[in-house]
Amino acid sequence: MNSLPGTICREWLKVYFSPRLHGKVVAMRKGIAVSPGVAIGTAYVIREIFVNPNTKRLEGSEITAELASYETARDKTAADLRSLEKKVAAQVGREQANIFAIHQQILRDGAFTNKIRNWIVQEQLTADAALHRLLGEYTALFAKTRDEYIRQRLDDIRDVIVRICSHLLDVAKLDQNSLKGPLIVVADELLPSQAVALGEIEVRGIVTQAGSQTSHAAIIARSRGIPAVSGVKGIIRAVKTGDTIVVDGRDGHVEVNPNPETLAAFRKLEREFFHLKDQLAENRDLPALTADGTELRLQANINGVNDAAAAHAMGASGVGLYRTEYLYLTHSDVPDEDEQYRTYREIINSSPNHNVTVRTLDIGGDKTVSYLGHDHQEANPFMGWRSIRISFEHPEFFNTQIRAILRAAADFPNGNVRIMFPMVTTVEEIRKLRAFVRKAYKALLAQKLKVREIPLGMMLEVPAAAISIDNMLELVDFVSIGSNDLVQYLMAADRDNPKVSHLCEPLAPPVLTLLHNVIGACNRANVPVTLCGEMAGHPKAFLLLLGMGLRRFSMSPAFIPSIKQLASQVTIAESEQILQSALKLKETAQVKKYMARQVEQLAPNLALLDI
Ligand code: PEP
Ligand code: MG
Repeated sequence: MNSLPGTICREWLKVYFSPRLHGKVVAMRKGIAVSPGVAIGTAYVIREIFVNPNTKRLEGSEITAELASYETARDKTAADLRSLEKKVAAQVGREQANIFAIHQQILRDGAFTNKIRNWIVQEQLTADAALHRLLGEYTALFAKTRDEYIRQRLDDIRDVIVRICSHLLDVAKLDQNSLKGPLIVVADELLPSQAVALGEIEVRGIVTQAGSQTSHAAIIARSRGIPAVSGVKGIIRAVKTGDTIVVDGRDGHVEVNPNPETLAAFRKLEREFFHLKDQLAENRDLPALTADGTELRLQANINGVNDAAAAHAMGASGVGLYRTEYLYLTHSDVPDEDEQYRTYREIINSSPNHNVTVRTLDIGGDKTVSYLGHDHQEANPFMGWRSIRISFEHPEFFNTQIRAILRAAADFPNGNVRIMFPMVTTVEEIRKLRAFVRKAYKALLAQKLKVREIPLGMMLEVPAAAISIDNMLELVDFVSIGSNDLVQYLMAADRDNPKVSHLCEPLAPPVLTLLHNVIGACNRANVPVTLCGEMAGHPKAFLLLLGMGLRRFSMSPAFIPSIKQLASQVTIAESEQILQSALKLKETAQVKKYMARQVEQLAPNLALLDI
């Protein structure tokens, strides 16, 4: 395998530091590096209407068009709500569907719409500013009541307004021609639906004000291989659409309208980033082998069909994690069995070797859908009602998903489709899940539908499950380590809270000890084990996991070429030695420093792609 010249890295460092050495550092903003690389482009700021409504006064000639936009958004909202009510009643229950009947009543309320129309026509407000004002009025009114039931109606009103706003704010309609050059999207946080709409546009980089390593924006950026920085305080107000913006996704900083010298230095870096990506992508058809010829499986984490294409392009051998919740999160109502079947079929069809591990709905935590009873705030959502805990409580709904997966898998007898359950905590849950799938399988057989028995596995992301791994292994066909969650639960540090990100660290010594134990237990029991958390694609962590005996990795598609190259530079014996030395270190910072040196020695060119 061709290794890349180390000169790229040295040259790059020279360029990178030169503006500073000449004392011409321009103002920059710091955030969290979430997707590596360097990008320069024209800012496109997605306004979060409630944070920052468009307060401009309309010209007289704009009023009719603004009214028409509002009416269209309102009609689309009404259609969403009607469809949601029907589907939720059929799949989840009448009681849960009632909420959408109430939302339709709110939408039909004469006072609601008349106020909005009047403010647009008489006060020349934009539709989003009018909606913002209306929400303010209701909030003030409801604040006076002590009645909890009435207070909760405010949440319903807010929901309806958010829904109208999301139709007003249609990212897909962005007129890219009016903006110069490739775009850098700047947002408070990207909603899943916005992220999907961005699929239509050429985006070079993403910057968000909120968010973290594992937020939607980060996941989307990594799966598309574009640089991204999250958690940049105040960026929405500091940047306007049309500004020139630089995103440095390696160390998490952003520069707005940099001076010509800085811009030229970053342009050089950006070219090197593209060059490196192109060179690494040439690996795509080569097998993933270590320097001593041990075969590895490098698979992709995907959220939808576009990512399956990226998995192919980057040379993945399959999909190790398909996050099905994106199907629900980006759907304006509840996808029924046939819609799900068609989507899963398309995903399997477009994935390398028709090899796909489908994870059942992992909703809750940071991702919610209104029809599953998330009508109240949980004090600890990540430790509360999420994933299979929700699926168990809505058996009809869960059954729809399992049937759709089993039917789709049956269409690919030569593929390898597996079902994986998130957030498994106890042995009883695994028994119950297996019985559930068995029942769905038998029902499909009885209906004479095409069906096939497929492997059932667990995600290992709860420390309790890691501790009782031996008992779990008797009941599952495979294990996939969800290190994003496992690390946050083990370290008691929220994965999305930048204030504790120094604790939520995959290279922390206790995390390494636990992973070493779990991987050893799976290998001894001959149960296939993969790791599908973000650390699988990070060079430093990859070397350690290899030393622990892991041979299957699933990661954002864009990381596959660099990990393939790194693997080609190291033998198993060397990785075991590196692990032994790292396990002797007691502090995270020491592990990081030590591992940075190992990566630098083995593959110096990868510095630009490490975070
Ligand atoms: C994980 O927890 O590591 C994982 C892969 O799942 P998610 O990031 O979707 O929670
Ligand atoms: Mg998880």
